[in-house]
Amino acid sequence: MLYIKMYEYKEDLNLYIGGKVLDLVEIKNVSFAYHDEKKETHCLKNITFNVKEREFLSIVGPSGCGKSTLLSLIAKLLKPSGGDIFIKNRDIEKSDVTIGYMLQSDNLFNWRSIYKNVLLGLEIQNKLNDENIEYANYLLDKYGLAEFKNFKPNELSGGQRQRAALIRTLAIKPEILLLDEPFSALDYQTRLFVSDEIATIIRNEKKTAIMITHDISESIAVSDRVVVLSRRPASVVNIHEINLNTEKSPMKSREAPKFKDYFNLIWKELDYNEQ
Ligand code: ADP
Ligand code: MG
Repeated sequence: MLYIKMYEYKEDLNLYIGGKVLDLVEIKNVSFAYHDEKKETHCLKNITFNVKEREFLSIVGPSGCGKSTLLSLIAKLLKPSGGDIFIKNRDIEKSDVTIGYMLQSDNLFNWRSIYKNVLLGLEIQNKLNDENIEYANYLLDKYGLAEFKNFKPNELSGGQRQRAALIRTLAIKPEILLLDEPFSALDYQTRLFVSDEIATIIRNEKKTAIMITHDISESIAVSDRVVVLSRRPASVVNIHEINLNTEKSPMKSREAPKFKDYFNLIWKELDYNEQ
């Protein structure tokens, strides 16, 4: 049974850095189109929002609207067709901030033990030193996977695998975590507690996260803010600051009276855009 120490989260993000909240990521008027010989697919249109340091930001939008494309731009896998992206006030092209990417499937290799899987990111990046190995061990221990170190991924539950995948991502000490529908391969029950667990770990480790999800409830439960995108070419319909007047615990958030108000609001905004 996993036990996560209650996250000592300062309700007001302003508190932790002497009143100064940094915009870690700034996305300004960003547009993007895919081109091939036959056609042009306009995906993103004048997207503007920012992500504060240690914020958990979710992005919801209709299927195919350009959400994954937007994450690829932030991960520097693609370049915007128009507009600018800044990370820590520097043009993204010049930024050397470490970015961690977590996908829908856990992408663990079945022929490697959990331990070897967790060290894989460090290995690839040539960062397999004592300090980083110690940090990976600390994460495995803290988040209840130490005793499974020598297990193979297929010997673990879906939730444990997702936790191992997150620890692998955290082991490289990323300043920004990008999560692309990380729980959509899990069944509904598992998904509820795994999403809460993963969000709590991310807050515990004081990371900045940008998560894409199909699930409105999930976005409200785990996030500080939710960005709602229109259908393709995606533009920003609204940005909701989630304030449920509860402690930042996803499970508690779901029980807050205002939870359903946010849900209805976001649902209507998404629904409207499906017309
Ligand atoms: P989402 O993640 O919101 O479901 P995507 O960002 O994956 O959407 O894709 C947005 C649109 O761009 C879709 O219409 C998709 O078919 C198209 N698309 C995605 N990747 C490519 C690509 N490499 N080349 C051409 N079109 C693409
Ligand atoms: Mg996608």
